[in-house]
Amino acid sequence: MSIRIREERCVGCSKCQEVCPGTLIQIVDKKAVMKYPKNCWGCVSCVKECKAGAIEFYLGADIGGMGGTMNVTQKGDLLNWNITRSDGSELVISVDRRNSNKY
Ligand code: SF4
Ligand code: SF4
Repeated sequence: MSIRIREERCVGCSKCQEVCPGTLIQIVDKKAVMKYPKNCWGCVSCVKECKAGAIEFYLGADIGGMGGTMNVTQKGDLLNWNITRSDGSELVISVDRRNSNKY
């Protein structure tokens, strides 16, 4: 499985369900759950769409990671890509959405 859904952070907005190209996510009792975890191919669409930071993407060896995780949160126009390394240290990459179409 490429992602993990943190139920305690999920606000039940269903955006992840809408964008998953494999229809792998379901909303049950106002919380997102993975219906078919083994079928997830890690496209990251749901991770990008979940501004609550409830979906974590595993940064495994297959993509050059070492078992850390990454999620996304939003503050105003800033989209924060939050990386937690396997040793527990953290890195935040902030992208100003107002600049996203400049290049
Ligand atoms: S996008 Fe995030 S907050 Fe919204 S339902 Fe999915 S996991 Fe929950
Ligand atoms: S990473 Fe892609 S395929 Fe996997 S659950 Fe999210 S949207 Fe679906």
